[in-house]
Amino acid sequence: MTTHHEIPSYLTPHEIGPWGDYITQIERVTPYLGSLSRWVETLKRPKRILVVDVPIERDDGTIAHFEGYRVQHNTSRGPGKGGVRFHQNVTLSEVMALSAWMTIKTAAANVPYGGAKGGIRVDPKTLSQGELQRMTRRYTSEIGIIIGPNKDIPAPDVNTNEQVMAWMMDTYSMNEGSTATGVVTGKPISLGGSLGRREATGRGVFVVGEGAANRIGLDIKGAKIAVQGFGNVGGVAAKLFYEAGAKIVAVQDHAGTVFHSNGLDVIKLQAHIKETGSVAGFAGAEEKMSRENFWDVQCDIMIPAALEQQITEHNAHRIRAKIILEGANGPTTPKADDILDDKGVLVVPDVIANAGGVTVSYFEWVQDFSSYFWTEDEINLRLTRIMSEAFEAVCHVAEDKKVSLRTAAFLIGCTRVLQAREMRGLYP
Ligand code: GLU
Repeated sequence: MTTHHEIPSYLTPHEIGPWGDYITQIERVTPYLGSLSRWVETLKRPKRILVVDVPIERDDGTIAHFEGYRVQHNTSRGPGKGGVRFHQNVTLSEVMALSAWMTIKTAAANVPYGGAKGGIRVDPKTLSQGELQRMTRRYTSEIGIIIGPNKDIPAPDVNTNEQVMAWMMDTYSMNEGSTATGVVTGKPISLGGSLGRREATGRGVFVVGEGAANRIGLDIKGAKIAVQGFGNVGGVAAKLFYEAGAKIVAVQDHAGTVFHSNGLDVIKLQAHIKETGSVAGFAGAEEKMSRENFWDVQCDIMIPAALEQQITEHNAHRIRAKIILEGANGPTTPKADDILDDKGVLVVPDVIANAGGVTVSYFEWVQDFSSYFWTEDEINLRLTRIMSEAFEAVCHVAEDKKVSLRTAAFLIGCTRVLQAREMRGLYP
């Protein structure tokens, strides 16, 4: 349980939100850390938090102010790394939790970074392209004092994309007086982006999903899959499972839920989304489904690939999947984890399942530094190798210590971070 004194003074108890979930996950791994547990407090507080005001002139001449954040949770193993989220519900607690999950993720995947995350509390759908660009540039300039190719490297997350990364790279470079492609990842290919980066998170979810299915003797061919969130993660993962012969029986996004007991045509669904912006109203669906009923869908694999705290103690008991593959960050609360564990559902945690994105971000950063670019095949091969090895290592620890895959992934991640912390020693 999270006790009152552990909530930082800048979060009121009712604002603990996703950060509270993360703290519980850390408390669950602590008994397994041995002598390194001496250092565990370091993971329970972010290294550095920057809150910035982001003012812009709107197209109608008025001035709007947005709240922006960049949190660097830990840099023991390397520079901060993590995406930037534009969403109306962004809070400090959320960005703190997302930054901490990046620390565990980069360590569990063994890429040489710490963990960071950024965000702006804004609904980007309410902005024109010009306003979006001005907001992105002002935000980048405000956080420019703590980011950099060797300090902290932002990337895309919910509602940010290659164009936003190009503006961030340009703004940072203009302020520095020289082009610094390595300051962000997830850039367009023409600006030092990497082949395969856009699909990397979804591809990683698929690779780890194959490994998980293999472990419980589930054939991907014919397996039924339900996906929440059909963006860059859920959409790509669904397509790869579909191509491998799985049936995508249900898809939910911000505007609707579609269902077909024999599987939806993912290619037609993607065309529908391109046209209308959402799955809602897709003609190829069998029947209308309420948002709530998504959790009852008869499926083998459920992929939450939207936002955090979706699977909770209120709906976990309804889930009929054998495997939960966390494409999103933090979609399952600790209480839901316990319910799913009792039911024998295999939960493949975010910090391993969605680590494909940051892994190819690492490849992008390496390619930018060496100014030598790899082929897409090379990238996908290396990604697949890193993801399957990392997943196997997590399974091995889970079996050895008789813990969940989440606690096993945290054990690997926290051990790497705290070993680095210990070897570096405290300054001064
Ligand atoms: N936003 C992605 C994540 O949550 C990618 C971060 C990155 O590439 O740095 O893992």
